[in-house]
Amino acid sequence: MASIAVIGTGYVGLVSGACLADFGNTVTCVDVDEKKIESLRAGQIPIFEPGLSDVVARNVAAERLSFTTDASQAIQAAEVIFIAVGTPPSDDGSADLRYVEEAARTIGRTIDSYRVVVDKSTVPIGTGKLVKKWIAEELAARALQSPTSDLSHEFDVVSNPEFLREGSAVYDFMHPDRVVLGIESDKAREAMRAIYRVLYLNETPFIETNLESAEMIKYASNAFLAVKITFINEIANLCEKVGADVKAVATAMGKDGRIGAKFLHPGPGYGGSCFPKDTKALADIARKNDSPLKVVEATILANEAQKLRMVDKIEEALGSLKGKKLAVLGLAFKPNTDDMREAPSLAILAALVSGGARIKAYDPEAMKEASWRLQAIDDHVTYCAGEYDTMKDADALVILTEWNQFRNLDLAKVKRLLKTPVLFDFRNIYDRVQAEALGFAYIGVGR
Ligand code: NAD
Repeated sequence: MASIAVIGTGYVGLVSGACLADFGNTVTCVDVDEKKIESLRAGQIPIFEPGLSDVVARNVAAERLSFTTDASQAIQAAEVIFIAVGTPPSDDGSADLRYVEEAARTIGRTIDSYRVVVDKSTVPIGTGKLVKKWIAEELAARALQSPTSDLSHEFDVVSNPEFLREGSAVYDFMHPDRVVLGIESDKAREAMRAIYRVLYLNETPFIETNLESAEMIKYASNAFLAVKITFINEIANLCEKVGADVKAVATAMGKDGRIGAKFLHPGPGYGGSCFPKDTKALADIARKNDSPLKVVEATILANEAQKLRMVDKIEEALGSLKGKKLAVLGLAFKPNTDDMREAPSLAILAALVSGGARIKAYDPEAMKEASWRLQAIDDHVTYCAGEYDTMKDADALVILTEWNQFRNLDLAKVKRLLKTPVLFDFRNIYDRVQAEALGFAYIGVGR
């Protein structure tokens, strides 16, 4: 067990901090966002993530978890400091490291004895070394200012990339397929083993390697998953042309142990806070190292095209988008999250509106996020109170996110509410034969 500071209290920092506290560590989560910390202190969870509020409440009550905006205080009190700030994409696709640098420099300006600094943010290969440099620079600057004090503290940097999935983040953190540690000293190894003792006892696979490999594992894993999704999306598109059903194709492919069934569900393209930015960042690293990743480059392009392909499918079926009213179910990039970062719905709705359509949308959790991200088309989007509210007088129903509550709609009622019974099932959650038997024109992906 250890005392821990987590710098950055977003999706990853809050989940990691709460779960590390649940493992018995004492954790302080730090953020620069005062409103976020205030609301956490008041017992409110700023994001929608199943199970998170219970873990937070339990560990706050046990006095193992607290929240602050005072980074220095949290760093001083901690043996191990996690960096879990955002690494958003820059204009050229590379990861913007300004928040990581700020966190590292704050650590360098604060520590006065040995610390383990753990990078949990997804960062370009080589960032671990940069974090070391930034901390060392701050220590050196302090040494210059007060030459009599000893500031030549040792510290270690560990890379511990995070693989949790939004929507099942708490479960994933507590039951990871593997924990990756880029680690270079026995002292740091000992500290990490103490922190993750519960997972060692569970016989979770731990992979220890150097900093660069740990950083690469995260990007390579996300890029591979993005490629897999994009592969089945392109196969789905081809299925449509040649009369094959991608559902049967994917099911049979997935039975092959070398392929596996996961991430073989075609849809409107991947989104979220990770795959789009991580594929771009990895492609950028590859280009800069003169070792291009053509598969990843092609995936990025194909994914953009896939979102707009959904718009083409709607336009083809409805004739023109002009004056059409569309009921849209699901805005988040996947179910069980309110995260709208790079959600396919953003590009799809913008294109539908620019083609002349009006949107009536509903998402169980993401409408607040969606409304500010879609401000530019605000006049053309109405946010509704429930799934059936979207459908009255609409020309078609478009399913963009497969929330469970959209899987079991009363299709007879849907048909009664819609002006024309057209179902764009872009997550393939309905049975074509059943929908057609009820009188719907059914348009899925790859079927
Ligand atoms: P986020 O945007 O939800 O949270 C980042 C937080 O860091 C924000 O609250 C921000 O205010 C805070 N912050 C920024 N600078 C700070 C500073 N100097 N001091 C204190 N707080 C600061 O981001 P996220 O989704 O949690 O992602 C964080 C990292 O984890 C990224 O590198 C991401 O790629 C990676 N990651 C994310 C996921 C995911 O599913 N979201 C999964 C695995 C890895």
